[in-house]
Amino acid sequence: MPEKKCDPSELRAETQPALDQSKFPMDIGEMYEGERIRKPDLYAEFGGVDIPEKFELVLVRPMEEVQDGRVEVVGPDLPKLQIGGAYPLGILIEVSGSKLDRDIEGVLERRVHYFTNYIEGVMHVNQRTDVWIRISKKSFERGMKSLAWVGRALILLFKRSLPIVEKIQVTFFTDPAKIEERLREAVKVYNARDERARGLTEEEVDAFYSCVLCQSFAPSHVCIITPNRMGGCGSISWFDARASSNVDPKGPNFPVMKGDCLDSVKGIYTGVNKVVQDRSLGAVQQISLHSLFDHPHTSCGCFESIAFYVPEVDGVAIVHRDFKGPTVNGLTFSTMAGHTSGGTQNEGFLGMAIEYMRSTKFIQADGGWKRVVWMPQQIKDRLKEAIPTGMRDLIATENDAKTAGELKEFLKSKNHPVIERWAELEKAEKEPVPETGREVPPETLPALIPAGLEIPAVGGGFKIILKNAKITAERVIIKREDSRK
Ligand code: SF4
Ligand code: ZN
Repeated sequence: MPEKKCDPSELRAETQPALDQSKFPMDIGEMYEGERIRKPDLYAEFGGVDIPEKFELVLVRPMEEVQDGRVEVVGPDLPKLQIGGAYPLGILIEVSGSKLDRDIEGVLERRVHYFTNYIEGVMHVNQRTDVWIRISKKSFERGMKSLAWVGRALILLFKRSLPIVEKIQVTFFTDPAKIEERLREAVKVYNARDERARGLTEEEVDAFYSCVLCQSFAPSHVCIITPNRMGGCGSISWFDARASSNVDPKGPNFPVMKGDCLDSVKGIYTGVNKVVQDRSLGAVQQISLHSLFDHPHTSCGCFESIAFYVPEVDGVAIVHRDFKGPTVNGLTFSTMAGHTSGGTQNEGFLGMAIEYMRSTKFIQADGGWKRVVWMPQQIKDRLKEAIPTGMRDLIATENDAKTAGELKEFLKSKNHPVIERWAELEKAEKEPVPETGREVPPETLPALIPAGLEIPAVGGGFKIILKNAKITAERVIIKREDSRK
């Protein structure tokens, strides 16, 4: 793409070390977290599934390279955009501080998601090259006429919440040529961060780390981050979480002592279970770090991909966030995301980082790559090196199979290892089932029907966890229903 010269009138820079929240045209605070901006209320959006050029990156720089409070918009700003339009965006946040080193970049970058969502009329979803931001008409009309206001709010929030950030400058790129150039650099940084943890295993460390940043969205969700399992959002590795815990021990990332290993293949540890029980307020009792079944790891909503069980072939399929079409079970990513998210455990559904598929322990309890039967071509190409050589041609994509029936034929034609399981299944089906008169406990049934469709009401009740909630009502009536009527 030819280099597009920036129109100087579109390029603005400013330095505002002292920010006064009362001068902002929009409000800022935790109460705006979770605010949704729907199409009719949309002024403009950046990134998302339809826009490939997008990223957000935090870099730690030497003190002299950061101009504290500087905000710059490189390319067309909000007033030049069409109402309802979708545009490319790159966000580069450069920070410095005497206690900061590059290990902390990934963790600071994840805060961009939270802090942006504190801004009234701004919705932020995902991270890295999946970022998606919406700006509301209301905030634009009230005076938020530039992305620079978002930058100023981020500076305010970073400095207020994290005193280790001594200097900070923010640059928004909306010029596609500039984004393309910076995006390549950003991807190199993401890869270098992720590769660092690849040489280490769970057995070699005494402690894992936890992340509870997403509890504002899913109160019972706790990410357990190990050298072999990155946080579901794909932005916090074991090294990132360790660095975060060192600089902010009371923050969202803290050490999790492993305790006794109850199952080394599934990845069940007493120390992990204890932390998950405590931090989920008892909603989750146990997790398997490396399985879709038997108490899978929970997810909030920002996972990069989903591994899901395909009962017709007794295999595991994978779909990532950018795949828009229906998968081999007829459901889209967004439909299945509903069954995978919210901090609940739904056997047969696992939200995960794309990096987890590079892990040597990737769903090892379920058969690892030998159990994978289907994945979109795009993600298969991206993970080419991670898929064992012998398996690469045996995993179908949307180009090979669109339905479970087609998938079955494909797997047969390739002699996929999962076929060995079919014989065992058929044998088991033919064996007469002894009449015991007892019901099969629901947890032993595979999750063919996603449990996320129903409110869990085991034992005649359900639990509602309200965190930081403010409820106002003119009248509340709770009535006991008379079952005899
Ligand atoms: Fe933390 Fe997990 Fe949320 Fe990522 S998905 S921010 S690792 S809780
Ligand atoms: Zn999340």
